[in-house]
Amino acid sequence: MDALIHGLHHVTATVSDAQADVDFYVGLLGQRLVKKTVNFDNPGVYHFYYGNEAGDPGTIMTTFPYAGMGVRRGVNGAGQIDVTSFSAPAEAIDFWSSRLAATGVPYTGAPTPFGEDALHFDDPSGLHLRLVGTLDDGRAPWTGPDISAAQAIRGIHSVSMTVRHPETTGALLTQLLDARKVGETATTDRYAMGDGTPGSLVEVCRAGGARDAHNGLGTVHHVAFAVATPDDQLRIQRALRAAGFNVTDVIDRQYFTSIYFREPNGVLYEIATLPPGFAIDEPLAELGRGLKLPPQEEHRRALIEQLLPPVTY
Ligand code: ZN
Repeated sequence: MDALIHGLHHVTATVSDAQADVDFYVGLLGQRLVKKTVNFDNPGVYHFYYGNEAGDPGTIMTTFPYAGMGVRRGVNGAGQIDVTSFSAPAEAIDFWSSRLAATGVPYTGAPTPFGEDALHFDDPSGLHLRLVGTLDDGRAPWTGPDISAAQAIRGIHSVSMTVRHPETTGALLTQLLDARKVGETATTDRYAMGDGTPGSLVEVCRAGGARDAHNGLGTVHHVAFAVATPDDQLRIQRALRAAGFNVTDVIDRQYFTSIYFREPNGVLYEIATLPPGFAIDEPLAELGRGLKLPPQEEHRRALIEQLLPPVTY
C-alpha cells in the first residue's frame, strides 16, 4: 500500500482558562486563532484551533478550555502524549528565550535527545511544551507586529508520547501508519512520516517507572495524523480494523472528517482528512473572528453563547 499518512494533522489538549489559553497561544507564541468553535461532543465548552494563516494540517494546536466545568487536573505518565513540540528557526531560539523571560514564563534550555537546540516550558494549564530550533522547516509562518518571519513558529514539530512498551507503539507506527524510525537513544525513539520534516515527527519515550496517565486539565487528549482524502481514511480504517484495532466510524468534524482509536499503549490517535479546511464557514481573512457552530448546534446558538465565557484577542 502506498503511504497514506502524511504527518501530523493536529494536537488536541484539555486546558483550563479560555482567556489565558488565547493570551498564551496567540499573544505570546504568535499563533493565529483560525477557528473559534465549540467541543462538538460538549457544546458548552469552546474548541480553539491555533495554526498558521490557513491552519494548515501539521500547524494546528487545538484546545478545550474546561475551567470551572468540574474537570480535574490531568496526571502525566504512561500512555499519554507528554510533550508537544513546536518548530522555529534555530537562529530564533534566543529571541524566544528572551520573549518567554520577558513574559515571566519559566523555561529551561536543553537540547532534544537528537541534538536540536530547544526550550522547555509549560502553557498556563501546565501542558508540557518544547520549542525546537530547526533548519529544514519550509512552512510559511503566521507573523505579527512583534514576531518576524525569521522568528515565527512554523507549526507543530513533533509529539512525544510516554509508553510502557515502546515496541508495540513502534510496530503500529511503522506497519500501519507509514512511519519509519529515524533516530534512537537510550530513552527515546523518533519516527518520521511523509517527507520527514518538522510536522511529521513522533517520539516514543520509555515510561520507566512512571505512573499511569489520566486525561484532565493540562494534558494532551489526542494526536491526529493527516490523510489526503476520505478514501484514504477508509483504507486506513479497514487496515486498522483488520489488525484488530477498535476504530470508530467516520465522524464529521466540519473542517475535516475523523476516525479514532487507541494505540497499544493507550494513547488516543485520530486520523483526519486534509479537506475541507477552515475556510469552509468563514473567509480566510476572517478566520477565528466569529463563534462558529456546527449546523446541528445553530438552533441553540443563543444558549451556547450565554454559557461560554467571553474572550478577547
Ligand atoms: Zn482531534
